[in-house]
Amino acid sequence: MSPILSVRNLSKNFGAIEAVADVSFDLAQGELLALIGPNGAGKSTCFNMLMGQLKPSAGSVKLKGREITGCKPRQIWRMGVGRTFQITATYASMTVVENVQMALISHHKRLYSPFPFAHRLYRAEALALLDTVGMADQAERHCAVLAYGDLKRLELAVALAHEPMLLLMDEPTAGMAPRERIALMQLTADILAQKGISVLFTEHDMDVVFAHSHRIMVLNRGRLIADGTVEQIRNDPKVQEVYLGG
Ligand code: ADP
Ligand code: MG
Repeated sequence: MSPILSVRNLSKNFGAIEAVADVSFDLAQGELLALIGPNGAGKSTCFNMLMGQLKPSAGSVKLKGREITGCKPRQIWRMGVGRTFQITATYASMTVVENVQMALISHHKRLYSPFPFAHRLYRAEALALLDTVGMADQAERHCAVLAYGDLKRLELAVALAHEPMLLLMDEPTAGMAPRERIALMQLTADILAQKGISVLFTEHDMDVVFAHSHRIMVLNRGRLIADGTVEQIRNDPKVQEVYLGG
């Protein structure tokens, strides 16, 4: 099967800094691929280019064979590349289920009305998505009172509302306690396997990376220095040197 994502010789310079240099990889359908590397390695820069937020200095990105290099974030999102965001302040005043309804309304390109919830648009679908992420019992709570880990699960439900074929998650578990991190990634992995969605994610916590990735790529100073299975990466001396601290 042809890859979902094909990245070739992707580079980004900020003045004299080579933030991302000549990165090439393919991502297969249903694959859970981790991009790791020390702080400043170029992970976020890479993500921002894939999402259309940053223009590459060189290289190409193809989504299912279609060139998306230089496309706007919204176009790329419309083509089926989802991402997880922090929940914004606006959304904090809404309930959990309303947040997912908003995402569904946006996905189905319905016009936003001043009273979008009066007619309970997409409520059943929203509740089903909340059930998928284990939050059906919190549907009527306001986001402002949610625990951080629950906000992260809501974020996942919101991303799923857009039915992405590929999900980009830049440090999805940042700020979470270790046990919560494992649980969130387990949940993510289960949902994605069930829906056949591919994922590219960055993560600091090596326990999470080793527990859930199908494949791991290691970035150092903008360059990919390794790309392999969990076992290969664990035992790669180059990786141990730059990243795992021996
Ligand atoms: P990571 O996400 O792996 O920590 P980043 O992609 O954020 O790394 O950063 C890679 C390098 O690019 C760093 O040296 C960083 O300082 C630099 N960098 C990132 N964004 C910018 C920017 N907008 N302007 C200048 N330098 C940047
Ligand atoms: Mg980063």
